[in-house]
Amino acid sequence: MDNSYNCVICLKDLDMDNGVLTPCNHRYHSECFFKWIFKKRTCPLCRKELIAQPDIEERASLYELRRQIDWESSLYNTLRNNVDTLDNHILTKKKELENLNSQVHSRQNQLVTIIERYKGFMQSMQRNHRNRRRRGLLF
Ligand SMILES: [Zn+2]
Ligand SMILES: [Zn+2]
Repeated sequence: MDNSYNCVICLKDLDMDNGVLTPCNHRYHSECFFKWIFKKRTCPLCRKELIAQPDIEERASLYELRRQIDWESSLYNTLRNNVDTLDNHILTKKKELENLNSQVHSRQNQLVTIIERYKGFMQSMQRNHRNRRRRGLLF
């Protein structure tokens, strides 16, 4: 059998209706050819470049873009983590503050009670003192 009717990629017979014909007039199984072309970019027989290589500038800007995206997503993750930490921190502080507020409130109530008791005590002392003076006792 003539070699041109075999697929040089898999070396099996090639039907005219299940193959691809390259611009350089070489014929392969379409499955074989597409597997090959995504890796090699050139015709397996004559090495003609069938898919253009991205040029240096294009590759550099692709690389730059890739790097930018990586950087931005790492930045985003860092920020996201910071925000989460901050959220937790704020929540903790809020709870602490509520706790302190209720402590202050109960202290205030205690103080009011103490002051009331002290006022009562002082009033009764003054009453006693006045009574003693009225009765002619000096102290
Ligand atoms: Zn093949
Ligand atoms: Zn070719």
